[in-house]
Amino acid sequence: MDYDYVIIGSGFGGSVSALRLSEKGYKVLVVEKGKWFKAKDFPKSNWNFKKWLWVPYLRFFGIMKLSVFKHIAIISGTGVGGGSLVYANTLPTPKSAFFKSGSWNELNDWEKELKPYYTLALRMLGAAKNPKLFDGDLGLKKMAENLNIQGKFSPTRVAIFFGKPNQKQKDPYFGGKGPNRSGCTFCGACMTGCRHNAKNTLDKNYLYLAQANGAEIMAENEVYDVRPIRNSNGSQGYEVLLKSSTKIFSRHQKIKTKGVIFSGGVLGTVKLLLKLKNKSLPNLSEKLGEDIRSNNETLVSVTGLEKEKNYSKGIAIGSILDTDENSHLEICRYGEGSDAWKLAHLPYVTGSNVISRLFKILLKFLKHPGEYFKIYFVNGWAKNTVVLLFMQTLDSTLKFKRNALGQMTSSISTGKAPTPFIPESIQLVKAYRKAINGVSTSFALETLAGIPSTAHILGGAVMGKDATTGVIDKNNKVFGYEQLYVIDGAMISANPGVNPSLTITAIAEHAMDQIVMKNELS
Ligand SMILES: Cc1cc2nc3c(=O)[nH]c(=O)nc-3n(C[C@H](O)[C@H](O)[C@H](O)COP(=O)(O)OP(=O)(O)OC[C@H]3O[C@@H](n4cnc5c(N)ncnc54)[C@H](O)[C@@H]3O)c2cc1C
Ligand code: SF4
Repeated sequence: MDYDYVIIGSGFGGSVSALRLSEKGYKVLVVEKGKWFKAKDFPKSNWNFKKWLWVPYLRFFGIMKLSVFKHIAIISGTGVGGGSLVYANTLPTPKSAFFKSGSWNELNDWEKELKPYYTLALRMLGAAKNPKLFDGDLGLKKMAENLNIQGKFSPTRVAIFFGKPNQKQKDPYFGGKGPNRSGCTFCGACMTGCRHNAKNTLDKNYLYLAQANGAEIMAENEVYDVRPIRNSNGSQGYEVLLKSSTKIFSRHQKIKTKGVIFSGGVLGTVKLLLKLKNKSLPNLSEKLGEDIRSNNETLVSVTGLEKEKNYSKGIAIGSILDTDENSHLEICRYGEGSDAWKLAHLPYVTGSNVISRLFKILLKFLKHPGEYFKIYFVNGWAKNTVVLLFMQTLDSTLKFKRNALGQMTSSISTGKAPTPFIPESIQLVKAYRKAINGVSTSFALETLAGIPSTAHILGGAVMGKDATTGVIDKNNKVFGYEQLYVIDGAMISANPGVNPSLTITAIAEHAMDQIVMKNELS
């Protein structure tokens, strides 16, 4: 065998697996389809589409991918470190309801079981409270006061190093075993990649330490097949087939391994497993592709009209407001100059009928031409704009299937179709607009097609007590196969209602704790 474990994807699930398996003495290879990025490789603004976006057909090999389905548009991360390169660093813990619902309910007392792993995940990711609030956050605070819920406002807990701005410092987290770091400058550019070495991306913690333990990382390669060797259940190991994801003409490689960990994120893992169920891994559960969830998010931008304010100052998500038992609102920003999103934005209108929405958009342009002229042509979009990220714990699920052309498609599974027009969110947009004297716009796909967008796609290979109720068991092992695991957002089996990376990290730590040391194998 070439390796004990091949890990497909280097996001949160993959990075935790790489470190813990290498610590247990296993020979590990991580295959990642995106690129390696050093601090200065990240784009200065999102106008640099080649470095910001992942669109291989156009030769764009950046850190963010946009995938549009009939019921949902998904943004996700690509590169060594997965979604941590592009994410907004926010690390909330879900409320109790998450641990007591969904297909994993009854497999464990999850809240109690995962508690120590959340603590470990927070330490490993270098979680700290945001120490400074800026204009966008102060707007949220003012809105909370206007609504009389100021007690529900708080700065976020984030994976950022708040040392001295731009000053190099020896590893502050791992007793000198980690890389040197620099303090955050509050430039707001976390979602185009941190050029200041302050964001605690996975290549600076889990992956860095895994490499030091001997784990190998192969970037710019995509796994397209996983075949059991001899026996049909993988007990003799697997052949993993991969090819370059960035070269036009590429050599295909075959690697032999005892075990495989699928950590390609929901879009990578579910897409690959749906393909393999038809071919190399037919024993996979029929539940594959089901229980796909978002956090029931809406993303609406509000552009302030007061010239002296700078909404791009701060960290990507600096503050949070719990607006009711099931919902909360976060303030997101891009760094100054990252104005490209405005190309995809239209005036924010709501309603179930597309004709009436189009009419409302036209009316807005006619009634307030000066305001929209300012938004699109005069002021820096990022400098003047915050993105309101609204999330809910209330649940509805989608199903992903593979069509005859091999494309992944969505359909509604349970509950109502996800919508960008959630009544609570509409009220909060109004309240924020009032608090900062702003104008709201939103992603054209939401306004025109009524398709909501999410950065938090979850599920598709969820936990169950057996293959009739889930794809994996409570320790993340795939039903029907030996030494095969799913450890990433696809394993999330209920709606956390909050940003999920901390939870993915904690569950990955839990799964890894169930694997014995190599020298204890019988
Ligand atoms: C703009 C943005 C902001 C966000 N902000 C936050 C936030 O503040 N807090 C939070 O908790 N979450 C946030 N998220 C969500 C977070 O990034 C994801 O939930 C998280 O990264 C998912 O982790 P994962 O382990 O499922 O895999 P991912 O992090 O998605 O990583 C999967 C990796 O696998 C690779 N891959 C896929 N298929 C293959 C294959 N076949 N072969 C090789 N490699 C493959 C991909 O390139 C990718 O790098 C944000 C996301 C975005 C896009
Ligand atoms: S605010 Fe700027 S310096 Fe701080 S973590 Fe984000 S990108 Fe890095």
